[in-house]
Amino acid sequence: MARKLLVLGEIREGVLRNVSFEAIAAAKQIADGGEVVGLLLGGRIKELAYTMIHHGTDRVVVVENSNLQDYTPEAYSQAIMQVIDAEKPDGFILGHTAIGKDISPRIASKIKSGLISDTVKVDIIGDEVIFTRPIYSGKAFEKRAIQEGIIFATIRPNNILPLEKDVSRSGEISSIDVQIKDLRTIVKEVVKKASGGIDLSEAKVIVAGGRGVKSKDGFKPLEELAKVLGGAVGASRGACDAEFCDYSLQIGQTGKVVTPDLYIACGISGAIQHIAGMSNSKVIVAINKDPEANIFSIADYGIVGDLFEVVPLLIEEFKSVAV
Ligand code: FAD
Repeated sequence: MARKLLVLGEIREGVLRNVSFEAIAAAKQIADGGEVVGLLLGGRIKELAYTMIHHGTDRVVVVENSNLQDYTPEAYSQAIMQVIDAEKPDGFILGHTAIGKDISPRIASKIKSGLISDTVKVDIIGDEVIFTRPIYSGKAFEKRAIQEGIIFATIRPNNILPLEKDVSRSGEISSIDVQIKDLRTIVKEVVKKASGGIDLSEAKVIVAGGRGVKSKDGFKPLEELAKVLGGAVGASRGACDAEFCDYSLQIGQTGKVVTPDLYIACGISGAIQHIAGMSNSKVIVAINKDPEANIFSIADYGIVGDLFEVVPLLIEEFKSVAV
């Protein structure tokens, strides 16, 4: 059953986030031979429309407005609602990012549709679109379908394979003028806390440190290992509470939920609240000097040892493999 899907392209520091390409791939599957329309919101963003087309959208709608330069839920929801009214899609897909999590319930209430959030898989069974999403902090999965209204879902980063980029693809790029009014909030300045690097929620490799890292300096070997592996550094709340690192690195129930290909937990005990944020990682390696540590119960590979001895050995080994 061919459908028309709208996909939000999320822009961060002037580039499209990888999860937007994963959302396009999901939309393509749901469209079932129908049309996939990209949506870009911001200021001077037209050139990014080609990137969306190269990753699989059939055409792109660009909304350029000074009120959309920085994300605010009010301005974004007004713009998205006007595009939905104009395009009348059968479905709307976006990333399960900070912006996706914030804006999607607002849009769902306005369009009076259900929302399936944090989906990790899409299946088409007959005429139905079935979404799989983790529940109970990743201990189980449920399958859901939208019965009425727009098929509306957010996609968890790192779970759906994006389509191969094809620069020979072409498609129409059109602009829509939107009216944005009565804003109660405006962004005056964006102050960055975390220092650049790979975004934790999209990282393929994460080296995470816990209280066992013992100090700010103790994170240095983890940073080096992450660098050698082309990954990002994360942390347990124990490490954040001890002020070894910034809370922006916290993974878990009250931190970020991550699904990398490889998660290396160093000096992390494996509390349920930490596991809630990383248990769906594809391969988990735990380094802990306590053989009874709970993290070993979910690890694919466990190393019982002192992380300050093990991590330098891993760095050396991976460096020699890379050469
Ligand atoms: P610890 O439990 O102290 O573990 C440190 C580990 O390091 C130990 O297993 C020890 O054997 C090992 N170790 C020590 N030295 C070495 C060494 N040299 N080499 C190797 N191993 C070593 N936690 C989160 O992580 N994320 C969350 O989002 C989160 N949310 C929470 C929400 C609520 C409501 C509550 C109540 C708690 C939450 N917590 C969260 C906290 C959680 O319960 C744990 O306290 C926390 O995860 C423990 O962090 P840790 O494993 O780093 O520290």
